[in-house]
Amino acid sequence: MKSKLIKGRMGDWEVVIGMEVHAQVTSQSKLFSGASTVFGGEPNSQVSLVDAAMPGMLPVINEACIKQAVRTGLGLAARINLKSVFDRKNYFYPDLPQGYQISQYKSPLVGEGEVVVDLPDGETVRVGIERLHLEQDAGKSLHDRHSSMSLVDLNRAGVALMEIVSKPDMRSSEDAKAYVAKLRAILRYLGTCDGDMEKGNLRADVNVSVRKPGAPLATRCEIKNLNSIRFIGQAIEYEARRQIDILEDGGEIEQETRLFDPAKGETRSMRNKEEAHDYRYFPDPDLLPLELTPDYVEDLKAQLPELPDEKKARFVRDYGLSGYDAGVLVAERETAAFFEDVAKGRDAKAAANWVINELAGRLNKEGRDVAASPVSASQLGAILDLISAGTISGKIAKDLFEICWREGGDPRAIVEARGMTQVTDLAAIEPVIDEIIAKNADKVQQAKSKPALISWFVGQVMKASGGKANPKAVNELLKSKLGL
Ligand code: MN
Repeated sequence: MKSKLIKGRMGDWEVVIGMEVHAQVTSQSKLFSGASTVFGGEPNSQVSLVDAAMPGMLPVINEACIKQAVRTGLGLAARINLKSVFDRKNYFYPDLPQGYQISQYKSPLVGEGEVVVDLPDGETVRVGIERLHLEQDAGKSLHDRHSSMSLVDLNRAGVALMEIVSKPDMRSSEDAKAYVAKLRAILRYLGTCDGDMEKGNLRADVNVSVRKPGAPLATRCEIKNLNSIRFIGQAIEYEARRQIDILEDGGEIEQETRLFDPAKGETRSMRNKEEAHDYRYFPDPDLLPLELTPDYVEDLKAQLPELPDEKKARFVRDYGLSGYDAGVLVAERETAAFFEDVAKGRDAKAAANWVINELAGRLNKEGRDVAASPVSASQLGAILDLISAGTISGKIAKDLFEICWREGGDPRAIVEARGMTQVTDLAAIEPVIDEIIAKNADKVQQAKSKPALISWFVGQVMKASGGKANPKAVNELLKSKLGL
C-alpha cells in the first residue's frame, strides 16, 4: 500500500476529504409537483404553478421520489429514519422563484451508512455516510442568450435531488475518485439516479483540508459543483497543494467556497463560506412531517436488486474469479450481465478474460457502452466454444473476434467459410516441423541443454502455419523430435 501523504518543504501532510454528492432522483415528475423532469425540453415548458411559486400554490410530496431515496439509503447500508421533516432553506436564488429551497435539515430521511471502496492497488477504504436527504434543484440562469439581460429556464426548478453527505474519510484524490465511481455504480444498479455527470445529474461538492499526520481536523475549503470524476481528482490535487503552500508560508486557511476551472486546472475563491444558521432554516409549514411505517421500508428492502458488492462476492465464489477481475466486471451492471451470458456453461475465467481484455478494450477504443457492442454475448460464447473444442487457436480467435466486430455473422460459419480451422492433424504439421529443425541445427543443439528453447521452435511453427497449427500438438511433436 503506497503512502497517501503529500510532501511539503516542511515534511509530510495529510489531506482530508469529505464529499456532498447531489444526485438527481430518477422520477418522471418533480419532488413537489407533477411537472415533467425530461431532459432537454424547450425552456420553461416543464414548469407547474407550484414550481413557478404562484401565490396560494401548495407543494404535494411525490411518493416515487421518497421510495427512490429510501431504496438508495438501503443500498448504502444506512439507517432509514421513519420520521423526517422538510425545511425551508432561505437564500436569494435567482433561479428558484420560491425564494427558498425545500430541503431537509435537522431530520433527514436517511441517517448513517457506509460505502466500501476498492482501490486498484487492492486496498479497501470504508467511507462513512453521514446522511442522505431530499431537496429541490434550482432552475438555470442563461447569460448568453441576450446581449443585455439574463434569462431563466425553470424546467429543472423543483426536480428532486438526493444530497448524499460522506464523512471526512478519504485521504487522497484516488480515494475520492474511487468513492464517487462506487457511489455512482450503486445508484445505477438501484435505478435511483442515472449517474449522467455530463448532464449534471450527479455532481459533487468536495471539502478539502490538510493537516500534519495525526493532528486534529483543520479548516476546510469547499469546491463546488464538480461534474466529472477526473475534475474531482484534479481539483483535490490542486487544492491540497495550495493549502500546504499557504500553511508553510505561515498563513492561515480561510473557510470558503471555491470553484474549479477545468481549463486552468485551478480552484479560485467564489465566496466566503456561509454557516448553516445563515440560512434561517425552519420546518416548512406547508408540509407535514414525513412518516413511514417499518413495513414500507422492509418491503422495499426485500425488493432491492443484487448490488455491486454482493455480485462481486458471488462472482468470486461461484465463478472462481479473482477479486480484481470480479470488481472490474461488476462496475457496470450491463457488463456483469454480458459476462454471465458468456460464462454460462463455459470456462468462466476464460470468459472473464475475454470480456475484460478483448471486449472492454475494443469498446473503450471506440468509446462505446457494452449495450452497443457489435459482438453479442452469444457470438463471444461461440468463439470460446470453438477454442475449447480445439477448432481454432487463441490467436485465430482474436482474428475471428475482429471479423465479428466489423462484419457480424455466426463465428462457426465464418471459421468454416474462411478455412480458419486449426490444424491438429500431425501429418500436416510434421513436414513443417522437420523443415524448421533442418534449417536450425545450431538451435537444436542448444535445446538439448536448454529445453526452454522449445518455445522458440513452437513460435516458428505457428508462424509458418499462419497461426493455424494447434500449439499443443506442435509442442508434443517437437518434444519427441528434439528428444526432450
Ligand atoms: Mn444541497
